[in-house]
Amino acid sequence: MYKKRNVDIRFIEIDSCPVCSSDKLEFIMRGKDSESLSLKYSIVQCPQCYVYITSPQPHPEDIWKLYDERDSKDFAPSLNNITTLRQYIFRRYINKILKYIAGDKLSVLDYGCGDGLLSLLLSQHPRCAHVTAADFHPAAPLYIAQSGANISYIPHHDFVKSSARYDLILCRQVLEHVHDPVATLGLLREHMNANAWIFVEVPNFQSIWRTIFGPNWSMLYLPRHLFHYAPCSLSAVLQRSGFEVKKLQHGHFPGMKTSLYHLLGMHSPAPGAMAVLLFPLQMALDIICRRSSVIAAYAQAQTDQI
Ligand SMILES: [Zn+2]
Repeated sequence: MYKKRNVDIRFIEIDSCPVCSSDKLEFIMRGKDSESLSLKYSIVQCPQCYVYITSPQPHPEDIWKLYDERDSKDFAPSLNNITTLRQYIFRRYINKILKYIAGDKLSVLDYGCGDGLLSLLLSQHPRCAHVTAADFHPAAPLYIAQSGANISYIPHHDFVKSSARYDLILCRQVLEHVHDPVATLGLLREHMNANAWIFVEVPNFQSIWRTIFGPNWSMLYLPRHLFHYAPCSLSAVLQRSGFEVKKLQHGHFPGMKTSLYHLLGMHSPAPGAMAVLLFPLQMALDIICRRSSVIAAYAQAQTDQI
């Protein structure tokens, strides 16, 4: 449901890179507000660390207003057949990640768990002894609140104070939402066991879909996405945060239907048959063009950081 919520949020212009402090930012493109669909934002790039930055950005003290009601598309309710499809995709996704990670009885953190479905499926995997799901909301999302003993939810303000350490941290579709990605990754690094892994996934700003749809590309998701990454900038931010990137991978995230609606100046309805039909087409073009919709990094703490 489209709601005019941006009106009581203060915005700040970005004149230097929040990652490396460079003040030589270069204009790249204009982007549409994901709610009003008006061209309200610029995306600039830092020539030093290569990150793309939204400007203006919601003030750090006000950004919670964009997520407070758990009704953004990050929490959109799914129809039954979509939930079944998501479960299938997430199970494959979990197997793919765990194939790369050694060890059994893993203690896993899903940082930015959204509606909690991925955390729940992780907790059902035989190699995951315990899953902790973290997000900004004080209460657990429905999938976690109704689930078993080897999964728990921790609100972000408690996670910051916690001394728990994990063997694997998933940080999916989070790093583009935070004001200080280096500080966020540094916080996660402090919660990692020796030889632990972090899996970081973000939208790919070099995606073929950004070229096709321009300011209508749904994964710009302005103003919630404060940063945008290409493979080189994701690596640069991880290295600045004390991580060594071991592998970069391309991935897929459905966004074609919403982008088409934005192109027509309309809001996309909840995911349904059209999204299901378009996703294989999107995946095929992702692969053919080698410019997929998301990128993911597998990284470990640099040895002098442990
Ligand atoms: Zn920079």
